[in-house]
Amino acid sequence: IPKGEDVILSFNDITFQYEEGLDIIQNINLVLKQNEKVTFVGRTGVGKTTLFKLIMGLLKPTKGSITINGIDVYDIPNSEKRKIFGYVDQSFHIIKGTVGDQISLQDESITREQIEEVIDFVGLTEYVASLENGLDTMVDSDTLFSQGQKQLLAIARAIVTNPPILLLDEITANLDSIIEEKIVSVLQKTRDAHTILSISHRLSSMIASDTVVILEDGKVKNVGSPEVL
Ligand code: ATP
Repeated sequence: IPKGEDVILSFNDITFQYEEGLDIIQNINLVLKQNEKVTFVGRTGVGKTTLFKLIMGLLKPTKGSITINGIDVYDIPNSEKRKIFGYVDQSFHIIKGTVGDQISLQDESITREQIEEVIDFVGLTEYVASLENGLDTMVDSDTLFSQGQKQLLAIARAIVTNPPILLLDEITANLDSIIEEKIVSVLQKTRDAHTILSISHRLSSMIASDTVVILEDGKVKNVGSPEVL
């Protein structure tokens, strides 16, 4: 994607329907700047997750478009997506393979050094070293990692490609406060490197945001700074 532009993401009057006649998202217009931190807030079912899928070009808007530095996200090839978007949600899906594979998703362009670096970044170096074969340990059980460690691995998986845009979907929703603190401190370290969009049920200070977007009935009800809202 072209660099050096001030505006990174632009929502151009997008409307989305899963079923004809029922707008889940309605006429959203929004412009996000490079490195802006935005939190989307709204009640369950308002369409926050759908909006993230639209942003990553996994769904096509019924009307309008979302562009990243002028390029329609729906036209970005899937093979390029990881370099642009880092996505984290509440569930970490373990893939068949080693600990290192959990981070690289077996993408051979990601080096062992990059994997080690990101494992270190999220604070899991010691734990990984304690496993029988370190990074090469096969992950054949769901209990090898605790819930908090899985969430840290999810962040590592999302940021290993150093994507300009980070999408965080309710990532601390089911975690206890000690783990939440750990996650927040890891995100704090990487926050300057990305435009960050997060989803939250409530106005939490999970990651300090410049802008809050309140969604209601598929529309943007309010946009502003957290202090004002
Ligand atoms: P939550 O906070 O619970 O994750 P959300 O705000 O992210 O909710 P979405 O998951 O985007 O909401 O769902 C928005 C609406 O679209 C809901 O009414 C949901 O039932 C509907 N919906 C979601 N996925 C589909 C689908 N694949 N087909 C039809 N309707 C869907």
